[in-house]
Amino acid sequence: MRYSLKHGNRVGELSGLIRLGWLFVMWVTSLALLPASAVHAGNLQVQGVRLWAAPDSTRVVFDVSGPVEHRLFTLKNPDRLVIDLPNAGVDSKVGQALKRGGVVKNLRSGPRNKKDLRLVLDLKGPVKPKSFVLKPNQQYGHRLVIDLFESASAGKSAPRKIQAASKPAKLRELVIAIDAGHGGEDSGARGKRGTHEKEVVLAIARRLAKLVKKEPGMRPVMIRDGDYYIGLRQRIEKARKHRADLFISIHADAFRDRRVQGSSVFVISRRGASSEMARWLAARENAADLVGGVSLDDKDDLLAEVLLDLAQTATQEASNEVADKVLDEMKRIGKVHKKRVQHAGFVVLKSPDIPSMLIETAYISNPTEEKKLKSAKHQQKVANAIMKGVRSYFSANPPAGTLIAQTSSRRHVIRRGDTLSHIAQRYGVSMRSLRATNKLTNDQLLVGKVLAIPSKGG
Ligand SMILES: [Zn+2]
Repeated sequence: MRYSLKHGNRVGELSGLIRLGWLFVMWVTSLALLPASAVHAGNLQVQGVRLWAAPDSTRVVFDVSGPVEHRLFTLKNPDRLVIDLPNAGVDSKVGQALKRGGVVKNLRSGPRNKKDLRLVLDLKGPVKPKSFVLKPNQQYGHRLVIDLFESASAGKSAPRKIQAASKPAKLRELVIAIDAGHGGEDSGARGKRGTHEKEVVLAIARRLAKLVKKEPGMRPVMIRDGDYYIGLRQRIEKARKHRADLFISIHADAFRDRRVQGSSVFVISRRGASSEMARWLAARENAADLVGGVSLDDKDDLLAEVLLDLAQTATQEASNEVADKVLDEMKRIGKVHKKRVQHAGFVVLKSPDIPSMLIETAYISNPTEEKKLKSAKHQQKVANAIMKGVRSYFSANPPAGTLIAQTSSRRHVIRRGDTLSHIAQRYGVSMRSLRATNKLTNDQLLVGKVLAIPSKGG
């Protein structure tokens, strides 16, 4: 049986005739020789496939029956990625689960050299592929992971220079990096009713981002804004690329004892975990890269910076303070697991230059808390509490060169009878700049709300 890639188009058309949507399609030539149900060419079986589309990359994960060897290469005109698996076959049902997405247009398969398997991904454009294998975990078995980076530069890491502490003279907004834990292959913890941590924490993160966006002088950056996995260190890198002033990682873990409940706020530890539970949680969260899938060469030279952070006392102190403020607010909305900020070696908190905290919003393993985590009302409460804590920290400690630093000394609490034009007159500023600074969409004022007063002439 001669294999030729020229057959690609024929097979593509055929698949369209047989079924709409996404199917593994066997080569025309193989149909004649093999049972129609599957390609059972070798010992190894490809049993399933999933696709996760991130903003600039697409991940395709193949479930395989055992440890897998593979070889891959790309082809142009049209763009394709070819994956060869020696001594392997594929279950024909596999492709049905695959949803269209990212850069992948279609998936085909066929036997090669009678005993090997060739998988072909038809692509929308050129990619830089990266592949690695994952060992079985609680949720999945052996997997072959293919990451397709869409732009030429996306596959490489961004240059890792530590930003100079001084910022340009122009006043800037504070950048709040919001990191929804887990995602994609890594669902995080799971509640008894089947609630996935990755989903509820993304919902809370999105609510928080909305609040930050409305906040005068602040801007959110979502580290993950969809159902895909990002490596722990890449999360830090993304925050640093955006010059974040604060990194907030949001989680909702599980514990073997379902009675355990309450939220906790963590910062990085320089000397080990503050409790057995803190150590246990950190070990679980740090295992995310194994579950979610990070290729080995992504785990490289941030280590130097991680070591550097041990000397970053200022960052550490800021982390402690802002975490304190957030914990105070969490106490107002529900139970806390520990009354003080906890310390543990979470990888995602190892930024040398960005104050960082990790919030375990609740225990998803506790049935009452699982229910709360799913409710929009409670998600909003959690987001509000985090926002209040962040606001309270930054108005007391505004970084130099930020809009907040300039306006924090000039604030006006709205009283009954105040109008925007009165306030503008009183402080000698224009109504336009008052509106812009406070992101007001109309001139209605709420009694008790605080307005930031911009600089004169601003
Ligand atoms: Zn988590």
